[in-house]
Order: sequence, then structure tokens, then C-alpha cells
Amino acid sequence: METRQMRNIGIMAHIDAGKTTTTERILFYTGKSHKIGEVDDGEAVMDWMEQEQDRGITITSAATTCFWKETQINIIDTPGHVDFTAEVERSLRVLDSAIAIFCAVGGVEPQSETVWHQADHYKIPRIAYINKMDRLGADFFGVIEEIKEKLKANPVPLYLPIGKESDFTGIIDLIEEQEISFEPTNYGSEMHHSPISEEYKELCAQWREHLIDQLSAFSDEITERYLEGEEVPKEMIKAAIRKGTISREIIPIFVGASLKNVGVQPLLDGVVAYLPSPWETPPIEGLHLKQDKMVAVAIDEQQQPLGLVFKIQFDREMGALSFVRMYSGTLKKGQTVYNITKRKRERINRILRMHSNRSEAMDSISAGDIAVIVGFKLAQTGDTIGSEGYQVSLEPMQFPEPVISVA
Ligand code: GDP
Repeated sequence: METRQMRNIGIMAHIDAGKTTTTERILFYTGKSHKIGEVDDGEAVMDWMEQEQDRGITITSAATTCFWKETQINIIDTPGHVDFTAEVERSLRVLDSAIAIFCAVGGVEPQSETVWHQADHYKIPRIAYINKMDRLGADFFGVIEEIKEKLKANPVPLYLPIGKESDFTGIIDLIEEQEISFEPTNYGSEMHHSPISEEYKELCAQWREHLIDQLSAFSDEITERYLEGEEVPKEMIKAAIRKGTISREIIPIFVGASLKNVGVQPLLDGVVAYLPSPWETPPIEGLHLKQDKMVAVAIDEQQQPLGLVFKIQFDREMGALSFVRMYSGTLKKGQTVYNITKRKRERINRILRMHSNRSEAMDSISAGDIAVIVGFKLAQTGDTIGSEGYQVSLEPMQFPEPVISVA
């Protein structure tokens, strides 16, 4: 089975914590690092700058794909509703992991708690990003305490801020044991690495010890070395962080100020290093309609196709865009697919991958991936698509309400 470097992530945040700004920066840095089609890097950056000047680059797509260091990252828009709605539930179902953004001033606000607990319900591995360190009242360690107390989670900082408010100048990388400063450029910021300065040596040692201590809880190798007073290799630390994150025992903490272009690149490295690919995510369950029982759908491109329509958006030229997460099999452009929920066949006219500034035509979409299907006339959000031979419904079927006549 092919397992690709892919992440399906959501970005969860309380309103105003900086979800839009951070997403924009993510798309900026990933757009800069990835060659898009025929356009060279320089032009791609210009496109983005022009777009930003024109109307602000706002992500209106239900899912946007970007690439960071060879890894495909599909960012699924998670509605920030307070209420537990079918829409929130559905978006949490199609993602495999998430970045939770907190404001360094506001900390864990009520809405963050609600979404956090929803993500707990769906067993979604998370990393957290403490944003707005440059703002008056920023309190990194206060937010860490709140994550512990209000969310009952185990935050483990991988980075520490250097200074705060107007003196926030960079971050300390606890694994590499170095300081990172961010030099503003026309195109975001460039990172500079330097040894830990005297001022931060003790703080760094203290939090590195905390990191190793937390990781030893689920790594015997680390425990042994820790007890023996031996150096723990970086790769061992990273592997343990990945394990602890995917098993949801720890929440790795990142820090920055997105508006100032500080901290976003390390956050992207964290998405690649610590969050799971679709192949490392437990299989989704659905109701096998012929056998009338719940079955687990293993992610396998060679199997019968099965996908969930999680959002429909309308485009003036193309009509209905059906955003689909594929869980099994492969769908090809031009083929017919069975809408299991509606019990009707539909044709796939086109398959598109949505990028921040353009859509890319694809020949097929396979298990694990997210893309847009153009051509569906009947599909609605929540519909399962697949084949007539393998009828598994990924969402409860909606039957017509019985008509009760009152005499
Ligand atoms: P959203 O509601 O979570 O999408 O938040 P936005 O990204 O729209 O940010 C809310 C406000 O905070 C905007 O005015 C941003 O410019 C500002 N903001 C976002 N990130 C930062 C940051 O790192 N530092 C500062 N000072 N302001 C920020």
C-alpha cells in the first residue's frame, strides 16, 4: 500500500486568536517553498502579495492544499461555532489532527474549551500554538497553566518565547538547544539560528528537563538514558514526541506572533514531524447497509471506493463543488460513482485540488486524500459516495419524517 507524506489538519481557535492570520502565513510560507505549476517561486510570491494587496488573501475554500518540505498538507476549514452542530461534527470527522491556536493574552477562552472537548470526543491528536506573543499582556506560561487546568491536557513546550510584548524577539528551540530570531524581509521573515545565550541557559535547561521527563512516560529508551544521566539523542526525542502526540498523551506547544511573521515555519515543521498521516489514523467506521452492522473502513487505494461529501460550495462557473474525503479506493475523472445515501448514480466530470490561489485539475483522487468533485447534481453534505457493491454509510442515513396525522 502506498503511504504518502500527507496531513489532513484543521485549525481550531477562539475568535480573534489569530486563525486567519496564521492560516494566511502558512499559505504564504508553503507557497513560497513549493513550486506551483508553471509559475516560478518568485512569481508565486508576487501573486500572493498582489492578492493580499487587492483583497486580502482569505481562505474561502472548505479545504486548501499546500506543501511543506515534500509533505502535502490539506487544511480543512473548521467552523468556529460554539454549538455542536452537524457541520462542526462533520469537519472534525474528516480531519486527522489539528493545530489549536491560543492567544497569549486571552489564553483558554470558553469557546476554545468547547471545541477542544469536541476534538477530544473525536480523539483528534493536536499541537498547540500560542500566538500574539508581541501583544501587551502576553503570558506564555500563564496559557500553559490554563491548558493544563481548564482543558485537563498535558502541554509540553517544544519552544519558549524570547521576551514578550514589544520585547518579543524570537523563540528558543528546546530540542536543538538554540535560539531562533526572525528577520523581517519583503516576503515574510528569515530565520537565524544562534546558540542559547547566557540569559536563557537556565530556563532552557529547566524546560528541556521537563520535556525529557514527560517523554520518558512512554519511552523506555528515554527513561533508561534519563536515569543513567546519559544524553538523549534528538531523533529519539522527536520520535517520542510523535508517539505522545498521536496517542494524545501530550500536547506539544509552539509559540510565535503570526502577524510579525514569527514562529510559523517551526509550526509547519511540527505539523510534518508530529501529526499523523491518514495511514496512521484509526480507520473510520460506517454502517454496512447489506450486513446491517458497523464496519471499519481500512484505508486502501486498491479497495472499493468510499468517500464522504463534507461540504458543498457553489462556484459561478463550475456550479456545485463537492468537497470529498476519500477513505478507501480511488475515483477517476469521467467515471460514474454511486451515491450510497441517495441511492443514485452520479458522474464525476472533474476532480480539482484547491490551492490558496488556484485550483489544479487531477485525474483521480485516492484514499486518504481530500479534493473537489465537479459534476454531482444530487449530492448533499453528509452523503457517502462509493460503489453499489460496497454499500457502507459513513453518516447516519436520513429517512423521511413519518407523517403523523392528527384526527
Ligand atoms: P481569527 O478571528 O482567529 O481569524 O483572528 P485574526 O487572524 O483575524 O486576528 C484577529 C486580530 O488579531 C487581527 O486584527 C490580527 O491582525 C491580529 N493578530 C493576529 N495575530 C497577531 C499577532 O501575532 N500579534 C498581534 N499583535 N496581532 C495579531
